Amino acid sequence: MTSLQCKGIGLFSLGFALGALTVAILVATGTPPAPQASAQSPQIGLPIAGLRLADIHDTFHEGRGGGRPHEATDILAPRGTPVLSVDSGTIVKLFTSRDGGLTVYQFDSSQVYCYYYAHLDRYAEGIAERTRVKQGDCLGFVGSTGNARSAGPHLHFGITRIGLEKHWWGGEPIDPYPLLIQALQKK
Ligand SMILES: [Zn+2]
Repeated sequence: MTSLQCKGIGLFSLGFALGALTVAILVATGTPPAPQASAQSPQIGLPIAGLRLADIHDTFHEGRGGGRPHEATDILAPRGTPVLSVDSGTIVKLFTSRDGGLTVYQFDSSQVYCYYYAHLDRYAEGIAERTRVKQGDCLGFVGSTGNARSAGPHLHFGITRIGLEKHWWGGEPIDPYPLLIQALQKK
């Protein structure tokens, strides 16, 4: 009984200490920090021309079906809106998947990052695997292919840091949201 009580008090004290620490951090920093783009991140352009802040949704940490994390940013846009390359580089894979629908995987010129554009309605003319593209080139058009609701066409945009083996799959996801905000502010 005594040991149980001790445990209870111990956990309570720990909780109190963590709470106090959180309060101390919040007081020290004012407000919780907004997501920041790190110096190690790619400099990207906007994947859709004329994008507004309200169209970009910070959904990187949201869960998806089957317990998978979202690890991308959803950008609402009308069906048929041109999807633009955010960086210069090469189209490495045009892939149709159950969830992503019609997708494009693009490496940047230095082959450090892979950009992923999903739920496309169709590809742009001339877009094929191994096509070299410049920032702003049209890759395809916004749609709702894959598991997107047909009433809610959007671009699902992801970025990964690719591994040494340079595969278009399985890289380390990077949150595109702060990079998109940064690109928006540059305009
Ligand atoms: Zn998405």
